[in-house]
Amino acid sequence: MKNIASLNGPLVAAGVVPAEAVPPDHDSSALVADIAVSPECTIRLFSAGDTIFTEGSSADRAYIIESGYVEIFVGSGEDSLQLSVLGPGDIFGEMGIIDAAPRSASAKAICPCRCIVVSAAQVAERIESSSPMVRLFISMSLHRNRAYNAYLKALATPHVGLPRPAVSEKTYAKNQQYQQILDDIKLEADLQNAVRNDELFLVYQPLLNLHNRRVIGFESLLRWQCPQRGLVNPQQFIALAEETTLILPMGDWILEHSCADLRRFQDQLDRIGQSSADFFISINISVRQFQQPDFFDRLMACTQRHQVKAQQIKLEVTERVFLDEIEAIDSIGKCRAAGFEVSLDDFGTGYSSLNYLERCEIDCLKIDRSFIQKLCTSDRAKILVSAIIDIARQLGLPTVAEGIETPAQMVALQAMGCEIGQGFLFSHPLPLTEALGLVGQPLAIAPVNPA
Ligand code: C2E
Ligand code: CA
Ligand code: CA
Repeated sequence: MKNIASLNGPLVAAGVVPAEAVPPDHDSSALVADIAVSPECTIRLFSAGDTIFTEGSSADRAYIIESGYVEIFVGSGEDSLQLSVLGPGDIFGEMGIIDAAPRSASAKAICPCRCIVVSAAQVAERIESSSPMVRLFISMSLHRNRAYNAYLKALATPHVGLPRPAVSEKTYAKNQQYQQILDDIKLEADLQNAVRNDELFLVYQPLLNLHNRRVIGFESLLRWQCPQRGLVNPQQFIALAEETTLILPMGDWILEHSCADLRRFQDQLDRIGQSSADFFISINISVRQFQQPDFFDRLMACTQRHQVKAQQIKLEVTERVFLDEIEAIDSIGKCRAAGFEVSLDDFGTGYSSLNYLERCEIDCLKIDRSFIQKLCTSDRAKILVSAIIDIARQLGLPTVAEGIETPAQMVALQAMGCEIGQGFLFSHPLPLTEALGLVGQPLAIAPVNPA
């Protein structure tokens, strides 16, 4: 057997994977004993000289050495090459259980060994729940590691020749999932610059009193005009921002600008001689924002900076916020105690726990537009919307119907006792200057344009 230290020469392994795969064969049966410590944890004992697994065999477990030493090598007999000797605390055999490829090296006990077995299923669960980007990075490094092993083996057996580049890294580039991951990474990088480079802006969609059609407030909605991509769909970039921590600087930006714009709405109401007492701005707040320990303090500081009142701000949250998010629920409590109203957005689409209604931790229900859209075509949707409005009324909570697109939907909602409406029937989201012109006005019903 050769030792890795005896090899020299340039390593040019990138882009190469082990060329030949020996037919699958499971890990050694030469073990002395399996001891089930718990359903998830088994200990394996090996004697000196036992083969634990061989190159090319299929991998269904990894090992953590508790005691003893294990040799990892490629090739066999005279041509074998030692890659490493591992001891207590070291892990081996993990590569194959991560990507289900055959073993790219063999393992042998040098002396009596006691190892903890980690099953492929245990690892698979964790990998599946990780982000696609993490999975891609792991897969790439395994790929390179295997190529490196194959290269070392080829150097140890010069008569065999260097391995063929069976799977080049360029193969990744053709994979659709890989492209999607790369696109997301690029989108994230562009989005990081968006706040810094002033590429975000807010638009305002009016909320109306459904009985007299007067505009009583606006929902602020975020837009991103990316220099390279154009106007990016909010559902695409906000979902990404919420998966990462990017939503936090973006959330601060949204609060700052929504409060500054609320000040301008108030000035407009003053100018036209109307009271601004009942006027409000609804701001969408994500769970991560509410989870920040200082969210409430930041919100208060922001309202003071712009001289706007808590009573004129509604915070829109989704049902997700009530899903074991203790910090978020605490934050909501503080905001409500200070006079901010909390609206439950997209009601009926989330986790449908009615606990928060029983504890009455909110001030308003916003019925999801998927129900409103079916209101005049599905009896079931009609029954559900009517029941939601009834429950809310009995709890003393107003309801907002979002996504009203037709006069028939509006009439049905009025008849059911829904107080507030929003939707393309009245207006699309508008730039601030146009929205300022609508405050306090009754709105004519607009023809419906596709968004
Ligand atoms: P959302 O909070 O449910 O916002 C309402 C969405 O419904 C808006 O989409 C609005 O343009 C759209 N909409 C309003 N009326 C109608 C209608 O009659 N028909 C149809 N088909 N759609 C209607 P938008 O602006 O694309 O926002 C999508 C989602 O992105 C929002 O859903 C919200 O979850 C998120 N979002 C938008 N702005 C912000 C923000 O400032 N902060 C956070 N955290 N999320 C935001
Ligand atoms: Ca909303
Ligand atoms: Ca909504």
